[in-house]
Amino acid sequence: MGSWKGIIDHYRPRLEMDDNAPVISLGEGNTPMILSERLSERTGLEVYLKFEGMNPTGSFKDRGMTMAITKAVANGAKAVVCASTGNTSASAAAYSAKAGILCVVLIPAGNVASGKLAQALVHGAKVVEVRGNFDQAFEITRKLEGPYPIVVVNSTNPHRLLGQKTGAFEICDRLERAPDYHIIPVGNAGNITSYWNGYNEYHADGITDSLPQMFGFQAAGSAPIVLGHPVDQPKTIATAIRIGHPASWDGALRAARESGGEIRSVTDKAILEAYRMIASEGVFAELASSAPVAGLLQLSAQGRLERGKTVVCILTGHGLKDPSWAISGAPKPIQVDAEIDVVAQALGF
Ligand SMILES: *Cc1c(COP(=O)(O)O)cnc(C)c1O
Repeated sequence: MGSWKGIIDHYRPRLEMDDNAPVISLGEGNTPMILSERLSERTGLEVYLKFEGMNPTGSFKDRGMTMAITKAVANGAKAVVCASTGNTSASAAAYSAKAGILCVVLIPAGNVASGKLAQALVHGAKVVEVRGNFDQAFEITRKLEGPYPIVVVNSTNPHRLLGQKTGAFEICDRLERAPDYHIIPVGNAGNITSYWNGYNEYHADGITDSLPQMFGFQAAGSAPIVLGHPVDQPKTIATAIRIGHPASWDGALRAARESGGEIRSVTDKAILEAYRMIASEGVFAELASSAPVAGLLQLSAQGRLERGKTVVCILTGHGLKDPSWAISGAPKPIQVDAEIDVVAQALGF
């Protein structure tokens, strides 16, 4: 859409946004909903992949960040801080740069994908590597607000969750109804909470006449909500959902319970298979974003989903953020001399 100016411009009446506040936007939202013919054929459903990797910084975090930074600037803030597994810091750094304010990010040392770290650095954020995991970095971040003149822009920031519900609006606007099933990765659980709020808002206003069943997927080594207790040493290759103490735990449980869905887990192996499968269909999403596709296949194999129904999988971030997994599992490129007949021969012509 040529006239698209970001989610605040498009959904302003639903975002509790003061009309006078200057909007800090990079044109986020309006992401593609890609019909997957192969997944549809395999599962007997109509499967859409909502590719949130197409947001300005390559993840859905931009939907919340445009709100959080717009509000922070409107309230006179000169600095923001977040703890991050990578994408929140990439987004916070970019929107802070756009606004001209300082961004501080606390990341778990050694556990952030290189592309995400590059984003925080190139946008001029002050990057602090914490020797610990995300949960420990987050604990410190929370304590900085109050005593220090800095606004926390993690998903505990209420404006972020408001912005993230616009993903649900876009799905319903596009389908002209609510999907039957919604499948999404769960880390800190803010996103599943926001989507459920968004679907309910449209339903309450009579824009849609049904609600989807909500399925959230954690990685098996990092599945506190599935296990029913926090995990102090979460483990998974899907670093964006490597979170053992989710902040919006209750929101995830509520979404699953109220909608007749579930919070489940998938193994790293299944995540990697799903990652390769969608890539083979032209969609390059990061590992965490492949968890809902692994989840779809698990639910479908167990007969949990009714055939013929419509399902949307949220592909939360772009695969380019961490190309190492793409390269390590692929055959090496062939190297040849720069001559046409050598190239033709190598191609088997
Ligand atoms: C942040 C993130 C998640 C997890 O979202 P939550 O709201 O924390 O549950 C999943 N995938 C990607 C790519 C992310 O950046």
